[in-house]
Amino acid sequence: YASLSVAAILAETAHRHPDRTAFLLGDQVVRYGELWDQTRSYAGALRARGIGPGDRVAMIVPNVPDFARVYYGVLALGAVVVPVHLLFKADEIEFVLRDSGATLLVAAAPMLAEAAPAAARAGIPLLTVLVPDGMAVPFPRLEDEAAAADPVDRYESVHPISAATILYTSGTTGRPKGAVGSHLSIVEQVHVALIDLFDMRRDDVVFGGLPLFHTFGQVSVMNTAFRRGAAVILLPKFDPDQALAQMVHHGATVFTAVPTMYIGLIQAAARSLDRPPLRYAVSGGAALPVAVLEAFSRDFGAEVHEGYGLTETSPAVAFNRVGEPIRPGTVGRPLWGVDIEIADANVDDRIVHLPAGELGEIVVRGHALFKGYLGNPEASAAAVVDGWFRTGDLGTKDADDIVTIVDRKKDMIVRNGYNVYPSEVEDVMMRHPAVAFAAVFGLPDEARGQEVHAAVVLLDGHEATPEELVAFTQERIAAYKYPRVVHLVDALPLGGSGKVLKRELVAQFSQEPV
Ligand code: ATP
Repeated sequence: YASLSVAAILAETAHRHPDRTAFLLGDQVVRYGELWDQTRSYAGALRARGIGPGDRVAMIVPNVPDFARVYYGVLALGAVVVPVHLLFKADEIEFVLRDSGATLLVAAAPMLAEAAPAAARAGIPLLTVLVPDGMAVPFPRLEDEAAAADPVDRYESVHPISAATILYTSGTTGRPKGAVGSHLSIVEQVHVALIDLFDMRRDDVVFGGLPLFHTFGQVSVMNTAFRRGAAVILLPKFDPDQALAQMVHHGATVFTAVPTMYIGLIQAAARSLDRPPLRYAVSGGAALPVAVLEAFSRDFGAEVHEGYGLTETSPAVAFNRVGEPIRPGTVGRPLWGVDIEIADANVDDRIVHLPAGELGEIVVRGHALFKGYLGNPEASAAAVVDGWFRTGDLGTKDADDIVTIVDRKKDMIVRNGYNVYPSEVEDVMMRHPAVAFAAVFGLPDEARGQEVHAAVVLLDGHEATPEELVAFTQERIAAYKYPRVVHLVDALPLGGSGKVLKRELVAQFSQEPV
């Protein structure tokens, strides 16, 4: 490519199919043509504020049509968009604003309590969107400025490997780092997804409950559906019963989600007879327990295709392709243009490749790779070694190229010198008929180094004692692996992208006497 832009994804579909539906939000319908026109107006307002190629614009906007107007509006100017995690507090937002070098923040009115002090402390202007009728806000509205400005008439073409997005890693493992994604990595990901992974059709109606600030929702749902001209059902907040009702109401045909959302939907389906006309489903972001895959396929009559990806890889790198036999418990084969190898996890400064079938750290190479962590050469150098990105995940690749994720390196528990991989134990516990969700983690233990603990949420209307759950697991896996302590909890701590925050479980249960 000589030049290209992520903004073309919306612009070209709007040009070809202006009357097709882009977003469905409750009873609101937004068509591609009007969405692009509004985006051009927003871009005009941002241009009038001095934003141009290479500038960084941060945004804190939930899953509403304004997310797309701001996102593609910034990209249409050749500027870099920095979508901020919706659950971030003022200090974290301030960190992102300073670290990214953002010169403007667009924040939805409901987020102002945290966003306004952050912008003030970082010394940058704030524009708001999503202001409820009659509410007075002490900030200029982007919509008003858009009405007064000249809309841009076209999107800026940019160099393919120039920065498009800066996505801060969700923080499940420490201080956020700004992963810089290029226009090429995102556009390529979308093309490969459409050609090789999903059978997405123009009349598909895609579930859009994954947060759009996160790479999975942004690229695998919004950008991919928009390239095809399909419709996306927006859910500003994920609630399983409401999600099911909206999917039924709008006739969802594709469900793309993280495993905790699958579990929520299975529970919602137990309370309702209605089902959407799903053609297939996609899971990623965390390990999908086989019992959950089976229950969902049974309840919804749709196959579930699990993939694997990371913010740093735009995101998908391996996938159980639609149209190929599914291999539950694996993440399928590498994508076109992506190499996946297994490296010795104990050698940090170079890549020592391991043969097929051996367990090691998953390393990735190819077009999907990010440009590095913004302003953090040490972290970038530690992550990309000899051109390979070290994912921090442990897994295997067999002779047929099928990749299996075992667990995150950091989540591995060492008990009495034996390695225990939480996701394997979780998979077993979730076969128990009363268990909705199990999260396994290690706590320090004087005698054994670490002890295996599990936090378990039971299904509505079911009962099981911790002792029963320990015994159930003990019967099914090796003695060093089963959890010695099971904590029954009402809910698990989830991050903004719907993943279980293991470090919060560790912190919570470290303080409780056992
Ligand atoms: P942080 O980088 O802040 O720790 P995070 O790791 O959750 O947050 P993401 O980029 O959202 O950041 O997620 C990538 C991680 O998600 C992978 O490294 C892997 O651990 C996990 N993951 C993604 N897909 C799968 C899958 N199918 N099976 C198991 N784990 C998965």
